[in-house]
Amino acid sequence: MTTPQEVLKQIRDNNIQMIDLKFIDMPGIWQHLTLFHNQIDESSFTDGVPFDGSSIRGWKAINESDMSMVLDPNTAWIDPFMQEPTLSIICSIKEPRTDEWYSRCPRVIAQKAIDYLVSTGLGETAFFGPEAEFFIFDDVRFDQTAHQGYYYVDSVEGRWNSGREEGPNLGYKPPYKQGYFPVPPTDTFQDIRTEMLLTMAKCGVPIEKQHHEVATGGQCELGFRFGKLIEAADWLMTYKYVIKNVAKKYGKTVTFMPKPIFGDNGSGMHTHQSIWKDGQPLFAGDKYAGLSEMALHYIGGILKHAPALLAITNPTTNSYKRLVPGYEAPVNLAYSQGNRSASIRIPLSGTNPKAKRLEFRCPDATSNPYLAFAAMLCAGIDGIKNKIDPGEPLDKNIYELSPEELAKVPSTPGSLELALEALEKDHAFLTEPGVFTKDLIETWISYKLDNEVNPMRLRPHPYEFALYYDV
Ligand code: GLN
Ligand code: MG
Ligand code: MG
Ligand code: MG
Repeated sequence: MTTPQEVLKQIRDNNIQMIDLKFIDMPGIWQHLTLFHNQIDESSFTDGVPFDGSSIRGWKAINESDMSMVLDPNTAWIDPFMQEPTLSIICSIKEPRTDEWYSRCPRVIAQKAIDYLVSTGLGETAFFGPEAEFFIFDDVRFDQTAHQGYYYVDSVEGRWNSGREEGPNLGYKPPYKQGYFPVPPTDTFQDIRTEMLLTMAKCGVPIEKQHHEVATGGQCELGFRFGKLIEAADWLMTYKYVIKNVAKKYGKTVTFMPKPIFGDNGSGMHTHQSIWKDGQPLFAGDKYAGLSEMALHYIGGILKHAPALLAITNPTTNSYKRLVPGYEAPVNLAYSQGNRSASIRIPLSGTNPKAKRLEFRCPDATSNPYLAFAAMLCAGIDGIKNKIDPGEPLDKNIYELSPEELAKVPSTPGSLELALEALEKDHAFLTEPGVFTKDLIETWISYKLDNEVNPMRLRPHPYEFALYYDV
């Protein structure tokens, strides 16, 4: 734990000129405001720094726009991408008029999820370990004129290169789905990934590893240690920030969108999770795969609420193009030890009970990590409180089940629209504990329908030209 006084000392000792205040909007993008160093003092860590919240997506109306950013002293690091000495600090949002935490601030919702866990007496800490995959592309060629009806479809397969131009294979390029993970020169991203990883270490992220991923040239994953719910979400935001900014230095871009390339693996954000109390891991026990009864009920909660949960953990129209068979992405709502085709996997963790956890494989990194982790925790707690039976584990490769066997396994929703419909019907597990307000759920659903689902539905799709142009 760092105190405000220590941060103020850090500012003096390092001759910090600027303080960059970062906070997360509802859809999950960092926003920032930069102050001259003399503009913050101890009150900035309690009352906050005022700003106009009216133009932030999904937040206040213009007539009630005053808000405060409250600095979290545990999140200060010197921003490696800014020329002048700049200290970055992550903030949560308060309503200055009432001095209450703002109910639509995702970081506030994450704190409420932890408070809820503690209030149930079930646990005192929830650990999360997200593995966010991404693609590095040379540039992005999405067609800004798309709404005018001009599209480019490059082959009968309808691979329309949303992301890159395919050139001839000049020798070392891995075929689709074979990027995991030959050494250089086939892997051309070694140095850039190492620079990304070492840079995030300077920003306080406890780094562990980096590697190429399964999709052809450019799909990557970096690894950092699991952390407490809010800490892990802060690290994930720092992870995305560093990765994108290092890529930019090399004239490249990065996308976390779940399915940028048709026919190759998409990018997920598998999320490892466990609950602890009194320094003891509560997911280790003598049940299936070395899990405790509590862990099995937690799984039961996630699986039961998964269709609604996915509206938050997989919150884009593109998310559902990833959740299809054949690309290591989960399609079926089942759990299993070691089986990567189940949406919940129990990783082999040796004999150390502290490593016992489950991995929910559905989420992707287009989610807002504070909302996603909070929602998963609420679903899990609902499972524990109501002793929800997760059913039998599925220890076969689900992709190879017979149609009769498969029919018994529920599957992930087929579209964002369906997930939002599920959330509309099933959100008491989020609102009754007081973690998400009803207002937030309603705002989330209408925001997603108005800004994403409907605009997508209204536009002619490139592949429709391949299918229908000549009819
Ligand atoms: N990219 C796969 C997914 O979409 C996961 C691949 C892996 O990490 N084994 O979830
Ligand atoms: Mg991994
Ligand atoms: Mg991976
Ligand atoms: Mg994984």
